Amino acid sequence: MQWVYKSILSQAWGKFFDFLEYKLKRNGNELVKVEPHYTSITCSHCNHISKESRVSQSQFICKNCNKELNADYNASINILKAYLCVGNHRESLLNILTKVESSQRKLRHLWLGSSRPP
Ligand SMILES: [Zn+2]
Repeated sequence: MQWVYKSILSQAWGKFFDFLEYKLKRNGNELVKVEPHYTSITCSHCNHISKESRVSQSQFICKNCNKELNADYNASINILKAYLCVGNHRESLLNILTKVESSQRKLRHLWLGSSRPP
């Protein structure tokens, strides 16, 4: 019976990615799938892989270089690196980093609650 659930779940993810790809294309973007393995336990600073570096759900401290980051932020950098290794992407690293910086400024603005973005 478990294979039925897996099959349904697999179809749901397939439909999700189809819909996501459709929406991205409609807005001039593209969906790029990257290999997700080890992105949450790899140090984005020195590329050291260790389960012990994932101290908690939200905290990452590299056992090799002691770099300390939010675990999701660290994983997102690894995913970005994997994306940049995939050919056929249209955006340059500078454009991506500009978008990331802009998003971080918007988030800081929301968290701090100031009336104007920094
Ligand atoms: Zn490291």
